Amino acid sequence: MRYHIWTEGCQMNEADSEKLAAGLAKLGWEEAQKADQADLAVVNTCVVRQKAEDRAAGYLGMLRKLKQSRNGGLQIAVMGCSRFPYVDVWARPQSFEVVLRHVMPESELGGEFWPDTFPEPKGPTAFVPVIHGCNKFCTYCIVPYRRGRERSRTIEDIAREVGSHCARGVREVTLLGQTVEAYGKDLPGPSLDTSAPRGADYSGRTAEEAGRKPDLASLFEAVHDTPGLARIRFLTSYPRDMTERIVRSVAELPKVCEHFNIPLQAGDNDVLAQMRRGYTIEEYLEWVHRIREISRKATLSTDVIVGFCGETEAQFERTLGVLEQLRFDKVHVAAYSPRPGTIAWRHMEDTVPQAEKMRRLHAVEALQERVGSEINAQLVGTVQEVLVEGEKDGVLTGRNRGNKLVHVRQERGRSKEQGQTPAIGDLVDVRITKATAWSLQGEVAASVAA
Ligand code: SF4
Repeated sequence: MRYHIWTEGCQMNEADSEKLAAGLAKLGWEEAQKADQADLAVVNTCVVRQKAEDRAAGYLGMLRKLKQSRNGGLQIAVMGCSRFPYVDVWARPQSFEVVLRHVMPESELGGEFWPDTFPEPKGPTAFVPVIHGCNKFCTYCIVPYRRGRERSRTIEDIAREVGSHCARGVREVTLLGQTVEAYGKDLPGPSLDTSAPRGADYSGRTAEEAGRKPDLASLFEAVHDTPGLARIRFLTSYPRDMTERIVRSVAELPKVCEHFNIPLQAGDNDVLAQMRRGYTIEEYLEWVHRIREISRKATLSTDVIVGFCGETEAQFERTLGVLEQLRFDKVHVAAYSPRPGTIAWRHMEDTVPQAEKMRRLHAVEALQERVGSEINAQLVGTVQEVLVEGEKDGVLTGRNRGNKLVHVRQERGRSKEQGQTPAIGDLVDVRITKATAWSLQGEVAASVAA
């Protein structure tokens, strides 16, 4: 029997699809490259953006025709989307078992099935969800309704998954959560004293040994020394859940990359209140300054929504002002579009015309192109540690610790005496020769560290 999974959306969706694929593989199913070669077609849709869900609806229409042409000889499963009459099984995000139960008897799924079922890595990097769901209820966002409340996996479970990845060649893991610094808050035990230093916090014992709830810093430490692991990343940050202890652990633990993605969303306090983001711009600025103070090499990216309900020109200008002031390495900008089922969709008016939203979006892009170019130009001549993730036409691609994309020109005819030719999964020192707003270029500067 063969399956095909169609995934739309963020890293969390990709991680969900990989986990489901691991479960199906364990049940003896093989992957089909296309839905028309499969017995089971799974559609795993993004729950965040309406556009993505619209694309999923289009793809489902194609599957409906395929199912009809095969007289029903195709099972269709959907994770994360609305119901359609011709869909055989519907599951919420992360409800893998619902899909598996549909294709196999329950008895085969019991016991040690899930604790030992981890996705097959597709390269030297892997996403590892550590906390599912979100408790924040920002007014524009559907995630808490679709993915439910925050649920952290145990440290043991996550460490086993990281160990499994690294045993199969993974060098870098990204610990994922909608608000990743909320990790551990829902686990049993008394709360951590987050002002206490990392490591031997409680009379020489770790947080877990002392029966406290672990936090993201505890998790960094627990997976840090996994054999084969070279780098740890984490995504996505939320200002209210950030703690000094977590920021310090990023600065102190050598394998944790000092890159923070902290969504700003808007630079105006009234817009932030309308969005129910739960922080003021002053609190946001304070965290960015603190991170840069503690972790001098930190790079920062952010997310911004322009044209939110009622956003005035003056309020938008304040967002531009904050972006200019903070000079992020990268800005992901989106024009607001109402998402059915959200608070904003139910109670707020989408007042900013589409053309104006696009004008604001392009203004943010133009500002960021200039800022990104200026920041990256300063890296020309420096040596950056790059994890090689791919190769095409003799050019290696990878990312530096700050999560910047780096293209590395391979020297032709490198002899063994000059050093081993870098391969995918190697850490390489790269001298940067050129920079744009979006990427860096360089050449190998030193020998390969595998
Ligand atoms: S923090 Fe807000 S925007 Fe982010 S997932 Fe939670 S509700 Fe959505």
